[in-house]
Amino acid sequence: MLSSPASSSSRLSAIQPGVVSGEEYRALQQACRAGGYALPAVNVSSSTAANAALAAARKNGSDIIIQISAGGACFYAGQSFPNEHQAQILGATALAQHVHLLAQHYGVAVILHTDHANRSLLGWIDGLVEQSRRHHEQTGRPLFSSHMLDLSTEPVSDNISTAATLMKALTPLGIGLEIELGMTGGEEDGIGMELHPHETACNPSLYTSPEDVLRAWKTLSPLGMLSIAASFGNVHGVYKPGNVCLNPDILRQSQTLVAQELQTSPNPVPLVFHGGSGSEEHDIRKAVDYGVFKFNIDTDTQFAYARGVARYVEDHKTAFTHQVDPDTHRPLKKYYDIRRWMQAGEESFIQRLDETFRVLGARGRSIAAPARTTTP
Ligand SMILES: [Zn+2]
Repeated sequence: MLSSPASSSSRLSAIQPGVVSGEEYRALQQACRAGGYALPAVNVSSSTAANAALAAARKNGSDIIIQISAGGACFYAGQSFPNEHQAQILGATALAQHVHLLAQHYGVAVILHTDHANRSLLGWIDGLVEQSRRHHEQTGRPLFSSHMLDLSTEPVSDNISTAATLMKALTPLGIGLEIELGMTGGEEDGIGMELHPHETACNPSLYTSPEDVLRAWKTLSPLGMLSIAASFGNVHGVYKPGNVCLNPDILRQSQTLVAQELQTSPNPVPLVFHGGSGSEEHDIRKAVDYGVFKFNIDTDTQFAYARGVARYVEDHKTAFTHQVDPDTHRPLKKYYDIRRWMQAGEESFIQRLDETFRVLGARGRSIAAPARTTTP
């Protein structure tokens, strides 16, 4: 049985493996920032990717953030699901129930999160809050640990006032809110625009101002558990070197301003790094030093999964064109079995995440259970 509580004497050891919410969510966030590490926030759109993310966390002795977009939720519900709005809500609910059921047995703590919701997707979040309300009535816990509101293309005042309204619904259920300030470039699951191959993503709208971070933090942090995706040149997707110009110093300036104005300890704001795929290790480390606890990764893990499957297909070509080998007459079922090539994808996905756990300093840092693998 893997679901025994951690035996360490620290206060944070009270966290049970499984999906966190409320004070446990806050404690996990604080453990990251106090310990100088961050957790990968892995986008998934299927149970196979969710299981690979859980397996990667267990292998690395780390906790993890698993997130799903509205498009990913539709895929989770099934391509032929008749109603898109319902598919967004029920697909994300199905993933949440899947992770709630399994995560505790993997022995790690999981922050379960929804990715970018712009104004047109507010109904999706409302539907998920309703699902969390029902789950809370039955179990005392919400379905999701946090949701993301992305109104970064709107005036900051509208962004903040909508976030305030949403937080009033989330906080009583123990759910946090991530907001975006400044924009993330590129395209992610239908939100934003892919860069032209010769275009650089260094335009001013991709860099937030420390003053906006202060304004949002002052207004919203008293209302519940707030995290901020403060943009510093981040771009979704992977482009050739030189197309993306990250300036993590914006994060340091934002933290310093908030700490000075509100007389807090250093790095008071839990920050989020979007568009982590393809980023340089030194930029990632700086961002973590400046209070990033959540590092979003999607493009790189998708590519890793696809590469794993592609290598498998390449190695077993005949099994993907014949049920029986035309030369040896041996049946090839065990090679084209869906589980075999998906497993190859999962293994490659896990290997890619091994690297991310290392760069983020998260290996062996799980506060839910004693670390099982502490490979340096
Ligand atoms: Zn993003």
